[in-house]
Amino acid sequence: MSPAPAFPTTATPSDRVGRVLGLNPGMMTGPGTNTYLVGRRDPILIDTGAGVPDYVPLLEHYLSERGWTQPSRVILTHRHRDHLGGVPQLRARFRGLKVAKMIHKDTGLPDAVDDLRHGDRVEGEGVTLRAVYTPGHASDHLCYYLEEEKALFTGDVILGGSTTVIPSDDGDLLDYLDSLRRLLALDVARIYPAHGPVIEDGPAKIREYIDHRMMREGQIVQALGDGLRTIPALVKRIYADVAPALHVPAAMSVESHLRKLAREGRARETPQRDAPSQWEPIG
Ligand SMILES: [Zn+2]
Repeated sequence: MSPAPAFPTTATPSDRVGRVLGLNPGMMTGPGTNTYLVGRRDPILIDTGAGVPDYVPLLEHYLSERGWTQPSRVILTHRHRDHLGGVPQLRARFRGLKVAKMIHKDTGLPDAVDDLRHGDRVEGEGVTLRAVYTPGHASDHLCYYLEEEKALFTGDVILGGSTTVIPSDDGDLLDYLDSLRRLLALDVARIYPAHGPVIEDGPAKIREYIDHRMMREGQIVQALGDGLRTIPALVKRIYADVAPALHVPAAMSVESHLRKLAREGRARETPQRDAPSQWEPIG
């Protein structure tokens, strides 16, 4: 495999959308979190990165290249640290900067964060963003639909380079699949993900995500039918060709499927003392 070309730290994917990288590369963040500046001037900033010190100078550099001085406001896709971690630095630099997100099961948010709800519109210069509630990766997740481009800012619901993690504490695969279907019902052209490159054929990618999960679910239902009863046993079979380093995310994925099947009344968990839970199919 040849090494991937370096992901650019700034880009202007359209005349309404600029992108500045959060400079927080990692196993879970790929090249880092994309933050987007949306609007023909006084742009709205979607997400803020993780709070990496070099991010604000990079953002200011990009703003000045465009002839702008500061974002008009910040809207967040969800509460994960690599999306809202930059809020304090931005506010230190841009006094009085407004920040909004869907406030839902939040603790420890920065001060003075305004609430946003499904269907709310955020207007900027030549742009209208509509909030779309999309829980599953996180229970407070909003995507933003840019009406003028029929483009979707998907946060962590759809990613440029990998599948989305469904964390066991706050994630929910059943909600996630509902969210994907809700996105598919919109008239979507492009997708601007929070990690990785622009996705030109949005609906194809959304369908690919749904198909991938349904394929995985089929494998898990089959394995339960064959008598496999624990997450480690399921991971060993289904991820036989995957490096052991990836077995932790694989186990999280299998668990998300089992919890979905349980919510649907198709599987039952029996916790064990000092051993992995036993899972059995129903019906
Ligand atoms: Zn996230």
